Amino acid sequence: KRIGAGGGVVVIGLGRFGKSLALELESDGMEVLGIDADPRPVQAVAGRLTHVVQADATDAEAMRQLSVHEFDRAVVAIGSSLEASVLAAFVLRGLHVPHIWAKATTKAQAQILEQVGVEHVVRPEHEMGRRTAHLVRGKMLDYI
Ligand code: ATP
Repeated sequence: KRIGAGGGVVVIGLGRFGKSLALELESDGMEVLGIDADPRPVQAVAGRLTHVVQADATDAEAMRQLSVHEFDRAVVAIGSSLEASVLAAFVLRGLHVPHIWAKATTKAQAQILEQVGVEHVVRPEHEMGRRTAHLVRGKMLDYI
């Protein structure tokens, strides 16, 4: 069976967020394809992630050759390059990947990704800041 056929997740960008996401999904038993344009993060996860390749996710033809269109989920985990993040999401849309998540660092990036048609946009720093506030408030209550 080919990877991606009948399910599976493509994780684009193996920085801190993408790497931990990809490893967590694989340890949950999902089929994961990790992609990064830089050889270093690819090397770093090579022993732990079954399927990992070095490729530019903004290159539609390269993504097609990796059978990205056969996956039903994809996550764009590129934060700092707005251009790469938006282009990668656009390529996934063009390949008709049914469910797309993307990480955004700024509110503007989140809005652009939504405009491109990304179904789920997450803002980890923003969301964790709010969540941590709840934890801090909870802890404070213990002391008052
Ligand atoms: P972190 O998750 O560590 O906070 P970040 O949000 O700062 O990451 P970057 O470090 O900019 O995001 O990007 C995450 C990863 O995405 C990097 O390893 C980078 O090489 C990769 N990446 C950037 N552009 C592309 C691209 N066009 N195709 C594939 N991977 C890419």
